Amino acid sequence: MSEVQDLIKQEEQRQREGMELIPSENYVSKGVLEASGSVFTDKYSEGYPSFKGLTKWDDKRIAEEVLPSKRYYGGQENTDRVERLAIARACRLFGADHANVQPHSGAQANMAVYYAWMEPGDTILGMDLGHGGHLTHGAPVTQAANVYNFVRYGQKDITTGEIDYEEMERVALKEKPKIILAGHSAYSRILDYEKIAAIGRKVGALLMADMAHVAGLIVGGEHPNPFDYGFHVITTTTHKTLRGPRGGLILTKGIVSNPLKAPEKTLENIPTLIDRATFPGTQGGPLMQTIAAKAVAFEEALRPEFKDYAKQVVKNARRLADEMQKLGFVLISGGTDNHLILADVMKSFGVGGREAEIAIDEIGLSLNKNAIPDDPLPPFKPSGIRLGTPAMTTRGLKEDDMEKIAKWMKAAIDAREDEKELAKLREEVKEFSLEFPLPSDR
Ligand SMILES: *Cc1c(COP(=O)(O)O)cnc(C)c1O
Repeated sequence: MSEVQDLIKQEEQRQREGMELIPSENYVSKGVLEASGSVFTDKYSEGYPSFKGLTKWDDKRIAEEVLPSKRYYGGQENTDRVERLAIARACRLFGADHANVQPHSGAQANMAVYYAWMEPGDTILGMDLGHGGHLTHGAPVTQAANVYNFVRYGQKDITTGEIDYEEMERVALKEKPKIILAGHSAYSRILDYEKIAAIGRKVGALLMADMAHVAGLIVGGEHPNPFDYGFHVITTTTHKTLRGPRGGLILTKGIVSNPLKAPEKTLENIPTLIDRATFPGTQGGPLMQTIAAKAVAFEEALRPEFKDYAKQVVKNARRLADEMQKLGFVLISGGTDNHLILADVMKSFGVGGREAEIAIDEIGLSLNKNAIPDDPLPPFKPSGIRLGTPAMTTRGLKEDDMEKIAKWMKAAIDAREDEKELAKLREEVKEFSLEFPLPSDR
C-alpha cells in the first residue's frame, strides 16, 4: 500500500510540474475523482436500471425514485439511481434517446456496436488507421479485425486534410458495408457528416460515429453532432475532451424494448441490440464507481461554462498551430479545426517523432510520437508528433500562452542533445506549470 500511495503522490507532482499536451488526455475535477474512488466500486450491478414513468429531464426525480430494475443482484437502490442519472445526462448532452453508460472503455463501446449489428465476416468501412483512424477501426492486431472485414477511406490531400469522399462512395458501393464508421484519433479537420450519411443511406449501412476525441467539442457546440445528419449510433470515450473518468459510452436514437429477449437486427431495435451486446454480450459487471463519476462529469458538461471551455480548447489549438508554423513546424492538413495538431517533425527539422517526443517530455511537456498519413518511417519511429489543447485548457491556459508552449517545444527539439539546456527549459516549464493548479488541487 505505501509503495502505491507514494507513486500516487509522485504522479500528482508530475502532473503539477508539467503540462499535458497529449490530445486524448485531460484533468478531471475533484467531484469526478471522488466518485471514481467511491464505495460504488464494491457493487455488482449486472443488468440495467429502469426508467419506468420517469422523463430524462428531471434529475431530481431520477435521483429520488426507487424502481424495480432488471438486475441480477440485490441491493441496487443506489446504483440504479446513479446509473439512471448518468444515462439521462448523457442523453441530454448529445440529444440522444438512449445511452448505455456501461462500456469500460472506448474500445469496448465499439466492440459492442460491432457485435450488436454484424455477423462474423461482415464489412465495416472506416477511416484508414494511417490517415487518422483508431486501432479499434480494424488494426490487424485487434480481435475485431479477425472477426470482421474492414475496408478503408482516407485523406485525398494531406496538406488540407480533405477526405476522399468519391473514393469512400466507390468503396461503399463495391463492398456494401454493414457499418460506415466516421471518427478518428489523429485528424485535425471536421468530417462532412452529411456526405458520409448520404453514402451510408445509398448502401443501407448503419451510420456509426466514433466521437471519442471530439465528444466534448460536440457538447460544447464547437463541432457538429452526427445525430443532426441522421447517424444512428455514436460511441465515445468519456475521458478525453469530455473530461470525465476513463470509460466508454454508446448513444442512440430510439428506445429499448425488452432487453431480455433477442430482437431482430433492425434499426428500430438498435438500442435493445446495443444494451444486450454490452451486457451480457461483451462485458460482465459494470464499473459502478466509474458510472457514478460519469454522472458527475456529464452534469459538469451540461453547465454553460463547459461551452466556454470547448470554445477555448479550439481557440488555443488554432493559435498553437499558428505559433508552431511560425517556428517551422510542418502541420498535417495545414492547421486545425478541432483540439488536435499533427506535425511532421521529420520534414520540419529532420528529427524523428520519437526523438522529438523524448526531448519535449524531458522538459515537462507530454505529447506523443505519431505516424503521419502514408508515413515512410516505421510505427515505432514515425515522422510525426501529435498534440492537443484539451488538458492545458482545463489548467487555464489561454491563446497567448500557446506562444510559450510552441517555443518550448521547438527549443527542446533544438536542445535534444544538450542536457544542460534541457534542464534549464525544464525549470522554466515547471515554474510556469505551477501557476496553473490541477482542478483537483483547487
Ligand atoms: C481513444 C479512442 C478510442 C478508444 O478508447 P479507449 O478508452 O482507449 O479504449 C476509440 N476510438 C477513438 C476514435 C479513439 O480516439
